[in-house]
Amino acid sequence: MNLPETDTSLFKRLRFVLVGTSHPGNIGAVARAMKTMGFSELYLVSPRFSDALTNPDAIAFASGAQDILQAATIVNSIDEALLDCHYVAAVSARLREFSPPILSPRQLAAHLSQSTQKSVALVFGNERYGLPNEIVVNCNALINIPANPEYSSLNLAQAVQLLAYECRVAEVDGEVDKLSAQSDIGFQGKTASLNEIDGMYTHLEKALVTIDFLDPASPKKLMPRLKRMFSRTQLETEEVNILRGIAKKIIDFKG
Ligand code: SAH
Repeated sequence: MNLPETDTSLFKRLRFVLVGTSHPGNIGAVARAMKTMGFSELYLVSPRFSDALTNPDAIAFASGAQDILQAATIVNSIDEALLDCHYVAAVSARLREFSPPILSPRQLAAHLSQSTQKSVALVFGNERYGLPNEIVVNCNALINIPANPEYSSLNLAQAVQLLAYECRVAEVDGEVDKLSAQSDIGFQGKTASLNEIDGMYTHLEKALVTIDFLDPASPKKLMPRLKRMFSRTQLETEEVNILRGIAKKIIDFKG
């Protein structure tokens, strides 16, 4: 599905920042991971090799995502990379005693997709040392990928892939919701009110008593179970009316 990429879309607002990356191959693989998920803004803070963006390994691992490498920005400090970012999340394999609030990738993606901040960033650490504490404490959130506790350190580009994927899914789902709210795409009826649903339950109960499916002297948990099931479905007015129509037919038929 092609969704419009407006300036407010997360695809345009989210920046990926790699701090002190050692292996140019990883930088290329990050570019590829980002592009497959529709993101393009890449910043490198002091990569180990100054030719990181043109290094043969970087180019080979980027595969068809060389445009992301060519457009990437190399800076000397984290402050330069985060200039005009309004929300920054540190992505770290290690939890720390003093850290910003910890979020899962999915929670972060939902937050970013719903946010209206013009620029937001994800910051990733070096392959061996991770992110320095000074950077983590200044971030708005710490993102930890809930991996195998006995072996929890992912390859840098795979960590980027996972975050980019979660952000894409959250953004695409959000766009679909917005589109269907604005138009008739993906029909959505009026959500039934509690009153309407209550009336339907009464009607349905009466019908079930009529056909002896429900014994009023010993109702057990039938109605609570049915209510629980319907409460998971976000009933619409039209659907409530259909169920009432069925209940009415049952009552008329028996009566
Ligand atoms: N030994 C390092 C791991 C570095 S892996 C450390 O202990 O931090 C390189 C980068 O990939 C990390 O800095 C982080 O940004 C990301 N990463 C790898 N595994 C991760 C995980 N389980 N959760 C969150 N980020 C992870």
